[in-house]
Amino acid sequence: MEKRMTVSSQNFKNEDIQKLEEISEVNVYSCYQCGNCSASCPAFEFMDMPPHQVIRAVQLGFIDEILEANTPWICAACISCTVKCPRGVDIAKLMEGVRQVILRKGIDHLNINEIDKKLREQLPQIALIANFRKTIL
Ligand code: SF4
Ligand code: SF4
Repeated sequence: MEKRMTVSSQNFKNEDIQKLEEISEVNVYSCYQCGNCSASCPAFEFMDMPPHQVIRAVQLGFIDEILEANTPWICAACISCTVKCPRGVDIAKLMEGVRQVILRKGIDHLNINEIDKKLREQLPQIALIANFRKTIL
């Protein structure tokens, strides 16, 4: 489900956005919001922010919304989005950058055991394995 976001001057160039740009080295401003990344994402339906919206949020400086979303942890790093992007935006790398920013803050956003059992059974195995690697310390 898409989240509603309101732009204010406070959103732009905060420390976490700069850190994310440094870590990922992804130029999010190449994105023209075609949505191919989200359309190709196997985990799309389980994310509270689809990949194209994460990119848009970075462009607009909505770092809090990104850090609170389950999206970076649901992402299985399959790089389908990166392959399908007509603008060469490496979204998978950006997702890894988001995870790094969160991990460096020491914030845990997803407990695998709190995911509904039925949903857990439907999730791609690679998504669960990626989460074990990235969220269980
Ligand atoms: S596929 Fe590329 S250009 Fe299209 S929305 Fe995703 S990141 Fe942006
Ligand atoms: S790398 Fe992540 S965001 Fe991209 S398509 Fe795969 S699961 Fe979706």
